[in-house]
Amino acid sequence: MLAALPALGEHQEISLAPIGLYVQFQQPPPAAVADALKAEVDSIMRPSGLRFTWRELLAARGSDFSVALAVITFKGRCDVTGLNPHISDTGPLGWTAISDGVILPFAGVDCQRIRGFLQRQLLRMPAESREEAYGRALGRVLAHELYHVFAKTINHGSCGVGKSKFTVEELLSVSLQFDAGESLALRTSETHTALERAGILKGTSSFSAEHF
Ligand SMILES: [Zn+2]
Repeated sequence: MLAALPALGEHQEISLAPIGLYVQFQQPPPAAVADALKAEVDSIMRPSGLRFTWRELLAARGSDFSVALAVITFKGRCDVTGLNPHISDTGPLGWTAISDGVILPFAGVDCQRIRGFLQRQLLRMPAESREEAYGRALGRVLAHELYHVFAKTINHGSCGVGKSKFTVEELLSVSLQFDAGESLALRTSETHTALERAGILKGTSSFSAEHF
């Protein structure tokens, strides 16, 4: 078996993932919430060309390669049981780390606060569609934070996913996308250029790693 391992200094062809999203949940979400969250982020980001490989932060291995990455923390409860018909206080629903004006690839989504913000409307929906609607809302808040991270901007757009505040209706609507300016900022971002250079957008990527 040892003979199958690459020798020191030997070239090794490795397939390169697009953007690695390393996620950690304080409380594990139900599968339907997690699936809706990922599907929504992928769908919002697809027109801008940014594609993600989702990984659990705690399961990350040294052999995972990606062109760019972000680490995402999901705070609090991520399920839809025990809702009540009141709107809880509404502070920030998500955040992106900034140090000395530089945006860092660390972002968070406050699942618990989003739950509280949406619960009155969620209770009016059929029980069987609540997890999907809530997961989609979490995805919109995450897409907003990823906009800050990958467009490298603290600015907000006026009407798309990059706007500064979401209403309950926007988070629960059937569809919400980036507006033209926000989409342009993502398509002209350094990360987009890096994906292009790596051949990821054409699907021709191959990547070789030197062993040091
Ligand atoms: Zn923002």
